[in-house]
Amino acid sequence: MNILETSLQEQQIARLLATANRRDPVSRGEVWLTGAGPGDVELLTLKALRVIQQADVVVFDRLVSAPVMALIPEDALRIDVGKSTRNHTLGQDEINLLLVDLARAGHRVVRLKGGDPFVFGRGGEEMAFCQQNGVPCHIVPGITAAMGCAAACGIPLTHRSLAQSVRFVTGHGAQGDPDFDWSALAMANQTLVFYMGIANSDNISQKLMTHGLPALTPVAVIERGTQPEQRVITGTLDSLGQIITENQVETPALLIVGDVVGMYRAKSAPQVYGLSENRVNGFADIADLSFQQTTMVQG
Ligand code: SAH
Repeated sequence: MNILETSLQEQQIARLLATANRRDPVSRGEVWLTGAGPGDVELLTLKALRVIQQADVVVFDRLVSAPVMALIPEDALRIDVGKSTRNHTLGQDEINLLLVDLARAGHRVVRLKGGDPFVFGRGGEEMAFCQQNGVPCHIVPGITAAMGCAAACGIPLTHRSLAQSVRFVTGHGAQGDPDFDWSALAMANQTLVFYMGIANSDNISQKLMTHGLPALTPVAVIERGTQPEQRVITGTLDSLGQIITENQVETPALLIVGDVVGMYRAKSAPQVYGLSENRVNGFADIADLSFQQTTMVQG
């Protein structure tokens, strides 16, 4: 593409954003609950970009990637509320209060969250608190980790003949071990995506197998999906805990359980672990989706 074409494209985007700004301005005294996507800056929505670039204050958590953080204006105040499971810099009540106080002080407040603000992000609580306190709260959807990470590495979450439904499940309940209807989760022909499930992975795989999911069901662990450090590790349900330990998987990471994982093709991801023999040369054979215990190969 030549320079002229590039600048025409930039103008087009600038026009789009200017029109959106007239229609839906980022005003003082309001909160924008904004999804930052799974990490790859190109997976940020144009709306999130527009809102971030007009922020006076950005209240963010640890899932927001560095390239997305780099889009925040230099003169905007950044407040890290570090939402990691073990180490909350601020409690949820304090975050709620902070958002309302900042908006009442007349700031354009962007609450920036990894993925989508309403998928395991406690965005619903933040929105409700703003509403209860008369502070306008706008929502900017983001690409949630399950959708971004799976699609970006070539795992279709649904597939006509393999999975007719998909479930996003928390691996970490409010009181520790989540209390699920495990037999419903262990049903055939669906894909399960566990968020925050790494620490509880042994329990998850045991419960699913006890409730009837075959031990050889394919699983994938995606660490830092869509980011340069992304790792994809594949195996079978009975080896889930083992592959997580052996590979020293760290958060953020997702667990995907289901036959669709058998379609994972190594070549679609830059760093790939665990190629099974029938996938080393590229495309999974859709006719033969039997999944084998994988050999660890770093590619
Ligand atoms: N609101 C977020 C989820 C917050 S819960 C969203 O919609 O994506 C935090 C969990 O999300 C992490 O423990 C991990 O399981 C998952 N996660 C978020 N970003 C991820 C990424 N880039 N790669 C893998 N897992 C991710």
